[in-house]
Amino acid sequence: MGIYIDTNKCTGCKLCLSACPYGAIVIEEDKAHFTEDCTSCGACVSACPVGAIVMEVVQAEQVDTSQYRGVWVVAEVQDGQLAEVTLELIGEAHQLAQPLDVPVSLVLLGDQVSQFASIAGAQGADRIYVVENDNLAQYRTGPYTDVICGLINKYKPEIVLIGATLQGRDLASRIAARIGAGLTADCTGLEIDTDQRLLRQTRPAFGGNIMATILCRQARPQMATVRPRVMKKLEPRDDSEPEIVNIPVSLDSKSIATKIVDIIREETQEEANLQDADIIVSGGRGLKGPENFALIRELAEALGGAVGASRATVDAGWIPAYHQVGQTGKTVSPKLYIACGISGAVQHLAGMSTSDCIVAINTDPHAPIFDVATFGIVGDLFEVVPALTEALKNEAG
Ligand SMILES: Cc1cc2nc3c(=O)[nH]c(=O)nc-3n(C[C@H](O)[C@H](O)[C@H](O)COP(=O)(O)OP(=O)(O)OC[C@H]3O[C@@H](n4cnc5c(N)ncnc54)[C@H](O)[C@@H]3O)c2cc1C
Repeated sequence: MGIYIDTNKCTGCKLCLSACPYGAIVIEEDKAHFTEDCTSCGACVSACPVGAIVMEVVQAEQVDTSQYRGVWVVAEVQDGQLAEVTLELIGEAHQLAQPLDVPVSLVLLGDQVSQFASIAGAQGADRIYVVENDNLAQYRTGPYTDVICGLINKYKPEIVLIGATLQGRDLASRIAARIGAGLTADCTGLEIDTDQRLLRQTRPAFGGNIMATILCRQARPQMATVRPRVMKKLEPRDDSEPEIVNIPVSLDSKSIATKIVDIIREETQEEANLQDADIIVSGGRGLKGPENFALIRELAEALGGAVGASRATVDAGWIPAYHQVGQTGKTVSPKLYIACGISGAVQHLAGMSTSDCIVAINTDPHAPIFDVATFGIVGDLFEVVPALTEALKNEAG
């Protein structure tokens, strides 16, 4: 990554000064100059009204990969808490870091976020880069991208993992484009090729019909996003003492292009319940019609669980889309997943196969759902589901 100022064009207007989060630009003899603190984050490029600041992305084949070491996770804070996906990714980063013999670092941006350092440490983070600033209190693409690109350019991690949430999807693609790295979205599996020191990034491709393993041989860092609930958290350690690295930044709200006026949540309680539920009862086309989702709801209610669905039923208009589980729906990983009248297409499995215990109810003994099921019931759901509900009610009552 190279950045330079074309002094023939620079008018010394000083607009770039307030755009730089690292305070790394000075004016000398009416021209802007970078100091040694410049991280090449690129925040100043769009602030220059005369196009005098030029950023050159280094071609992938010119990158010296040996300079990049360490596994990073970019943290997400949701509703004043460290997001679960961040903790899951720290756990995964820990597994990846071991064969590489490198530390796991967490990048934590926000306002008053250092309080989360001990939680992150207990989950496996060895080092935490803490960047606190009023202007980072709410996620905004511009300042988050600027600050994180600066950190990546300075500390050079070889792997960066980000949650495939609304925020993470937005941020990861911006960072990758800015620093000229590749990005594999929605990975379902990550592992290290120790001989070549490469991250093997596996994700569904061609409509989920094959699993592709993607390698990023030249550009660095190797970047991947992972949906919530795909990876598992580690058991927390109570002897952790992560190294805290405080990164001072100065962000001027006037040089940030966006302002958050209000946050309006559209997610319904039911939708939120599905991803957090420990028990999910899902219905598929075997239900034969929308009215029969009542059977699924009753069983879910008796178990204290949430209702899921296959895409076939959502496409048929039997149930709203936020119940859909699978590649193009939600990824869930409950303790118990009961699939009723669901065939087990690869796209459905992509969203639920990491559930702890899977029970499948299907009339077809050859249905692929039985390949992933812990317990299989070959039978008619119209008999089995009400019988289960009744047995549970009797036991409770
Ligand atoms: C790009 C792409 C993305 C996709 N994303 C998703 C996704 O996110 N989620 C998803 O679910 N699908 C997704 N799909 C669709 C997927 O390929 C399947 O078409 C879908 O999952 C099938 O839904 P189903 O199992 O309910 O229906 P079917 O495949 O029709 O299966 C119905 C099952 O019910 C059984 N059955 C019938 N009657 C009874 C009975 N009385 N009792 C018990 N069992 C019975 C049958 O034996 C059968 O196995 C995607 C497809 C594509 C191409």
